[in-house]
Amino acid sequence: ESIWDHVELAPPDAIFGVTEGWKKDKNSKKVNVGVGAYRDDSGKPYILPSVRKAEEKIFNQKMNHAYVLQDGHHEFCKLAAELAFGKDSCVLQNNLNVTAQSVSGTGALRLGAAFLAKFFQGNKVIYFPKPTWGNHKNIFAAEGFEGKFYRYYDAETIGLNFRGMREDISKIPEKSVILFHAVAHNPTGIDPTMDEWKEITYICKKRKLLVFFDMAYQGFASGDTEKDAAAVRLFVDDGHEIILAQSFSKNMGLYGQRVGTVTILTSCEEEQEKVLSQMKAIILGMYMCPPIHGPRIVAEILGNPIPRSEWLKDLKGMADRIISARKALVDNLKKAGSTKNWDHITKQIGMFCYTGLTPDQVKKISKEHSIYLTADGRISVAGVGTKNVEYLAHAMHTVTK
Ligand code: PMP
Repeated sequence: ESIWDHVELAPPDAIFGVTEGWKKDKNSKKVNVGVGAYRDDSGKPYILPSVRKAEEKIFNQKMNHAYVLQDGHHEFCKLAAELAFGKDSCVLQNNLNVTAQSVSGTGALRLGAAFLAKFFQGNKVIYFPKPTWGNHKNIFAAEGFEGKFYRYYDAETIGLNFRGMREDISKIPEKSVILFHAVAHNPTGIDPTMDEWKEITYICKKRKLLVFFDMAYQGFASGDTEKDAAAVRLFVDDGHEIILAQSFSKNMGLYGQRVGTVTILTSCEEEQEKVLSQMKAIILGMYMCPPIHGPRIVAEILGNPIPRSEWLKDLKGMADRIISARKALVDNLKKAGSTKNWDHITKQIGMFCYTGLTPDQVKKISKEHSIYLTADGRISVAGVGTKNVEYLAHAMHTVTK
């Protein structure tokens, strides 16, 4: 008998499986709209010119590879927090934030979950929107949290089920944790309006919920980093001591570099010092300290006016390409003869689009047209370009008519 005899195969990752199917397909027209990373118009990975420049500058500075402290690159953390909360934000001015570097958004969620597991005195239950990013449940389950859901998506309107959302949140037991996608909800691309957020922040306050924001797409959604942070800032202005997971994967295209931060807001400076010390202790036990190359790139860009404005231009370029690909898809659906209402495609924001395709239609479009997407009907708009949009639209029309 061997030691690992009893170990069973873990369930495959749904998104990874989509790409596997696409790779094996021999059809020259095949389309992969399953991946969650930005691609240029011709389907290639994109390195932001501003990021390339920053890398060159860092290389030429011949920096050493010394360890950093557990909470990471301090200048990077400061600049990242300013990007999220706004430079003049009260919480930053009054030193009420603990911001530590994390292994991107995923690591930020995990650190936040670990901190909550150790110190949160409320319920170890976290409420997610239904549906949510598939990994949320894993991350919080790993820290002993039970995951539950509040209503979010309305299949009928392919929009937000605001009434259901409000109702469910109003019934969440006091002192539980609730998670929101700060902007560009994944997988639906549907966000509450500012007026709806205002109601939500009020209800969360009343229920004494601890609000955890996952902000993986700041600036990537609209092209404007201020606008995309509006929901987070609204909650902060309302006095919520939020936890924030921040990622630079999408908005700087730094996916594999794993750059992000976790922020915990506190009510006074004395608390800040203690919370920071505990966060550092958690990081020490997990991986001692984070990597340094990625945060150097971000700090070089955010901390210098010219690189920063070049980055904002690159960012706007990506956001605009996504927005115009959405429009092109709708135009081509009409051209293909579809009389269905596809307005949701242009109403949604960010990289992901819930098409409304049913699981059966997804199966059909993959099998008969070599178009690969997840079974929930989500497409990554980053996979849509001028060369494949007509083919994609035609196939979507064929399986939905
Ligand atoms: N949250 C959401 C909602 C996401 O879509 C993603 C990336 N797919 C992440 C977090 C994590 O990304 P990363 O760890 O690369 O920052």
